[in-house]
Amino acid sequence: MTSDVRNVIIVGSGPAGYTAAVYAARANLEPLVFEGSVTAGGALMNTTDVENFPGFRDGIMGPDLMDNMRAQAERFGAELVRDDVTAVDLTGDIKVVTDGEGNEHRAHAVILAMGSAYRELGLPDEKRLSGRGVSWCATCDGAFFRNKPIVVVGGGDSAIEEATFLTRFGESVTIVHRRDELRASKIMADRAMANDKISFAWNSGVASINGDTKVESVTLRDTVTGEERVLETSAVFVAIGHEPRNELVKGVVDLDDEGYVLTQAGTATNLPGVFACGDLVDHTYRQAITAAGSGCAAALDAERYLAARD
Ligand code: FAD
Repeated sequence: MTSDVRNVIIVGSGPAGYTAAVYAARANLEPLVFEGSVTAGGALMNTTDVENFPGFRDGIMGPDLMDNMRAQAERFGAELVRDDVTAVDLTGDIKVVTDGEGNEHRAHAVILAMGSAYRELGLPDEKRLSGRGVSWCATCDGAFFRNKPIVVVGGGDSAIEEATFLTRFGESVTIVHRRDELRASKIMADRAMANDKISFAWNSGVASINGDTKVESVTLRDTVTGEERVLETSAVFVAIGHEPRNELVKGVVDLDDEGYVLTQAGTATNLPGVFACGDLVDHTYRQAITAAGSGCAAALDAERYLAARD
C-alpha cells in the first residue's frame, strides 16, 4: 500500500455509513467518510422522536442520534468530510473516488452507504409536517397515533402492508388511491378489504395536507370529477415507493430490477473490494438499526478483504 492510498472510503453518512465508520476506525483502518453536502446524517435528520433504536429507553431525537453516531466515528479517528462523491472508478485494484471539488481520493476498499429516498407526494406542506403527522414509515411512527384516524396514500403491496399494520394503533385507516382498484397482490388486497378498520377513498389524490403545527386533515381530490373534500386525520403515511440512491454506481456495480445494489456473501458487491449496506441494498426492513447492522457487516467484510490482500 502506498501512503496516498487509503484503506477504505465510505460514501454516505446515515446509520449505515457512520456505523461502518465506527467499526473501520476502531480497526485502525482510518476511514475517509463522505457525508454528503446537503443531508449529512441521513434520513433521520428529518425526523423527531426515534423510539425504536435500542439503547435509548426514553427515545432520542433523530438528529441527536445521528450527531452521537458521527461523534463516535470521529472519536476513533474516522475522517469525515461534508461533501458529495460525484464520480467513482471502482473496477481496478485501487478504487478512485472523486469529490464535489473534483479532487480524486484513492482506496483499496469502498463501502457504499448512500441510502434510499422515500418518494414524496410533492405537496407544499408535506416536508413542513414531516414528523408532525406526515410519515413514510408505519413501523417507526404508527405507535404515535393510537386511537387516532390515519390516512395511508398508495395502492401497492407496501401501502396495504402499512395500512394493515396501522390498524393495530389507529381508530380507523383510510387508504387513498388514485385508481378504482389496488395494484397490490390479490391476497393482500382481500385481507385489507376484509379488515373492519380499513376503508378506501378510491379515485382520489391528496390535494393538500392541512394543519398548523401537526396534521389535522387532508384535502382529497377526485381523479375523475375533480371534486374536493376534506377528511380529518391525525396522520398521513405516504407509501408510494422508494428510490435507492444509485446514481453514482449505475452501470458500475450490479443492481437489481428496482435499482437496489445487489450483494452476495454478506455485503460484497460484484466488484472485489466494493461493499454496500443500509437502505441502498434493503427492500425489506429499512430501519435505522438494520442499516446500522449492515454497516457494521460491511466494515467487517472490508477489513477481512484488506487483511486477505496483505
Ligand atoms: P440514509 O440514512 O438515507 O443515509 C444515506 C446518506 O448518504 C445521506 O446522508 C446522503 O446524503 C448520503 N449520500 C447519498 N449519496 C451520496 C454521495 N454521492 N456522496 C456522499 N454522500 C451521499 N428508522 C427507524 O429505525 N426508526 C425511526 O423512527 C425512523 N424514522 C424515520 C423517519 C423518517 C422521516 C424517515 C425518512 C426515515 C425513518 N426511518 C426510521 C428509516 C431510517 O431513517 C432509515 O432506514 C435509515 O436512515 C437508513 O440508513 P442508511 O444509512 O442506509 O441511509
